[in-house]
Amino acid sequence: MKNAVYLSLGSNISNREENIVLALTVLQSSGFASIKKISSFYNTSPIGPKQRSFCNIAIKAQTNLNPEKLLLFIKHIEYILGRINTIKWGPRIIDIDILFFGNQVISSSFLTVPHKEIQNRLFVLVPLCEISGNFIHPVLKRKIRNILCEKSLTLKHQKVRITQACNFE
Ligand code: ADP
Ligand code: MG
Repeated sequence: MKNAVYLSLGSNISNREENIVLALTVLQSSGFASIKKISSFYNTSPIGPKQRSFCNIAIKAQTNLNPEKLLLFIKHIEYILGRINTIKWGPRIIDIDILFFGNQVISSSFLTVPHKEIQNRLFVLVPLCEISGNFIHPVLKRKIRNILCEKSLTLKHQKVRITQACNFE
């Protein structure tokens, strides 16, 4: 599988950790992706409307899908896990976002890569830094760890607390 991708997964409905593990199981068993790194699990404060806190992780995977097909596939995983879209940034059983697709820069009506909010979200930057702090953001041209350092003061109101250390081999 030739393409390295980084994904962000989050959940804030029912058993949040179980939902994330189930999404990873579907992804890994699909034959479309091979998971290489999984961050720890984090409890994070919600963005947008008032709601329960989220569980978030970041992963690195290799895939044989192209970016558009990968987006369709992650939407399919969200669907089979029972995601119902309500309000923007509202509660969700599972949210899977494509953070990076190799070093590709994509800007279409339905897909923006790198994900445009990476640098504004501690719940993305912290898990991402844990698994690949030296990865260079292909648009900002900066390492993830440097973006995190630079942003940690302005984003300090966003709570990101580790709940389960990673034990992925
Ligand atoms: P959000 O993740 O912003 O809370 P959704 O998961 O409902 O909201 O995604 C809304 C739309 O964002 C998707 O239907 C998809 O077409 C689009 N999108 C654009 N770029 C990306 C990306 N990098 N990863 C995932 N979805 C994306
Ligand atoms: Mg999403």
